[in-house]
Amino acid sequence: MEFKDKVVLITGAAGGIGIAAAKKFAAEGAKLALVDLSQEALETAAASIDAEKLLLSANVGKEEDVVNYVQKTTEHFGRIDVFVNNAGINGEFANIVDSSVENLEKVLAVNVVGAFLGLKHVLKVMTEQKSGAVVNTASNGGLLGAPGMSAYIASKHALIGINKTAALEVADYGVRVNAVAPSGVDTAMMRSIETNAAKGHEEEARKGFEASVPMNRYATAEEIADLMLFLSSEKASFITGSYYRIDGGQGTT
Ligand code: NAD
Repeated sequence: MEFKDKVVLITGAAGGIGIAAAKKFAAEGAKLALVDLSQEALETAAASIDAEKLLLSANVGKEEDVVNYVQKTTEHFGRIDVFVNNAGINGEFANIVDSSVENLEKVLAVNVVGAFLGLKHVLKVMTEQKSGAVVNTASNGGLLGAPGMSAYIASKHALIGINKTAALEVADYGVRVNAVAPSGVDTAMMRSIETNAAKGHEEEARKGFEASVPMNRYATAEEIADLMLFLSSEKASFITGSYYRIDGGQGTT
């Protein structure tokens, strides 16, 4: 029970990676505060999780919602030990010449502003506690380019920068900040990317994306969650400001 009675706050918790992480933290004894856009989606996703849990609907891109989810979590549990800063969207699939500023702004509003606001308010709590661990969900798109996904790629590059900076700002307080950088993960987000990339040819698109990974497949959400648990645990006590590729070798090619 590595996380017995630890308070774990997860955004994007009704989605594939978020709920996989919630289940694994719960299995290790954690108490959960789960954040996503819809209360109903959270209730469905978390129904089978046997743990003390708080379900909080919020738009991570709106500061008043972020203040509210952080406040509700600390009011209920008294502290935040782990923050999985995970909510994200992929946006449209189009080359820059055909892409819109609105799409760029929409993606940045969640993936950058949302992640920034989560850090802004959760790190206040953690620095006061003088303990805590944050895992930001970046992407190998934060390290590489990908045609058709400029907004998403920009957002995840920005998040890697914010991750490094946040880690340096709070290292003195015993708070660690790291990021995971997955390649394609078998969740709703990849279904959306397949659909946007190849309308009517999703199966071919999926095979193409998988073939670009040396291990020739998507990651499972559980594989990403395992890395999140490691980075949040005492086993990672001297790791901060780092990002970890978890990509079947894709970033090596
Ligand atoms: P997902 O679509 O299953 O889950 C994302 C969740 O975030 C959804 O439940 C969604 O409702 C929530 N969300 C979106 N906008 C929000 C907002 N404004 N406020 C609150 N919640 C919001 O996708 P996933 O694969 O689980 O994605 C989780 C994270 O992993 C994202 O940051 C994504 O960029 C990152 N990621 C995913 C992949 C992949 O291939 N699936 C690869 C690398 C990184």
